[in-house]
Amino acid sequence: MTTHTSPVTLQPAPPRAAAPRAESNVLNNGHIRDLMGQCIHCGLCLSACPTYSVFHTEMDSPRGRIALISAAADGRIDLEGPFQEHIELCLGCRACETACPSGVQYGMLYEAARTAIEEVRTPSRFERAARWLGLRQLMPHKGRLRLLARTMKLYQITGIQRVVRGLHVLPKGLRDMEAILPPLPDSYPDYSQPAPAIGEKRGEVAFLYGCVQDAFLSGVNAASVRVLQRNGYEVHFPQAQTCCGAAQLHSGEHDLGQELARRNIDACRGRDYVAIISNAGGCGATLKQYDHLLADDPLYGAWAKEFVGKLQDISEFLADHLHNPPTGRVEARVTYVDSCHLRHGQKVVRQPRQLINAIPGVELVELKQPDMCCGSAGIYNITQPDTANQVLDAKMADVTQTHATTVVTANTGCHMQMIYGVRKANMPAEVIHLVELLDRSYFKAEVP
Ligand code: SF4
Ligand code: SF4
Repeated sequence: MTTHTSPVTLQPAPPRAAAPRAESNVLNNGHIRDLMGQCIHCGLCLSACPTYSVFHTEMDSPRGRIALISAAADGRIDLEGPFQEHIELCLGCRACETACPSGVQYGMLYEAARTAIEEVRTPSRFERAARWLGLRQLMPHKGRLRLLARTMKLYQITGIQRVVRGLHVLPKGLRDMEAILPPLPDSYPDYSQPAPAIGEKRGEVAFLYGCVQDAFLSGVNAASVRVLQRNGYEVHFPQAQTCCGAAQLHSGEHDLGQELARRNIDACRGRDYVAIISNAGGCGATLKQYDHLLADDPLYGAWAKEFVGKLQDISEFLADHLHNPPTGRVEARVTYVDSCHLRHGQKVVRQPRQLINAIPGVELVELKQPDMCCGSAGIYNITQPDTANQVLDAKMADVTQTHATTVVTANTGCHMQMIYGVRKANMPAEVIHLVELLDRSYFKAEVP
């Protein structure tokens, strides 16, 4: 058994009249209290939880974390120290939501807990600088992220990366970050003009190209656009769009997350799109929660509902709008690695499989535990690399037993984590996004 975390002693609830420890307003929100109250402590979520599988400790299980959040809301424990430690070890994968018979929306409790922690703790100067740089100065700015990716591309093509990896010269923290760097793109799509429909025009869609997805895996976006075009959609790229805010919200930066949400809503307003499309499970889960995020905003509350009403993951959209099914034969043994935020957060499970099975020649082999996280979880594999690696090793044991030649993903973080996992496990397989597999089939139909 691996134990990295500190035990927590819960104090009995004080009489409500007694002065509590620092009670958090975020946790005392009526909605959050209601969600906590829905937990019936049955424990059915424990076996679904990756961190419980690693640590086997109650406080690293969903039930334990809900008890901690409840205790913190009552003021029975401090928000810093062990509480923070156990909450930060949570992947936020929401597998517990799928397993829960009582409908506890754990993801909302988790984000409230992260926000409550941020309200009281004092981050180090280094962490403040890293957050300012990553969450504020890079992720919301497409041009800056592309510049960073182009610089890293030089590091890859000059052979420096091979030497650095071979000699293990980087300190541990940097080495963990470097290990998940995917092969970077040679070029980037031009989003300045809409991409026209191919064949009969069925409508217009707005495409959200993401931040890290655009800079680090832009081939996925290019394939997404082509597949939408081939199915009769004119693809628009709302010019004022920005990062979805997922990383900011998971880091407890609630106000910044709201600001980014307003910018994306503004970017997509004023045109009657058939749908607003995201191709990254993690981003989509956050985008679909804009209505909750802005529920108290008198102006944006209603606009957020409209936005969420149109937001669809690309697999969700294509499963219902595959006007031109792929016909090119792709000989591949495929396993599909669900994105937790697509599967557990958005409940999109059937559609990616339906699309993979629509491609001639493809054999789909299911994982034994398709509901388990790969350890990517936003920036978890950077902030908690040791636990992330243990979760990844368990995932790779499942992935390798399929003997797949192609590992298919549907989210940026999972895609990068699987590239790393396949390399680490010496597995002779490629890692691609679902739309790249579809795009390959369309291409093969034209150029056999
Ligand atoms: S979100 Fe994932 S890691 Fe966190 S408690 Fe739920 S199942 Fe466990
Ligand atoms: S399955 Fe749901 S109700 Fe049961 S302990 Fe887990 S969160 Fe609580």
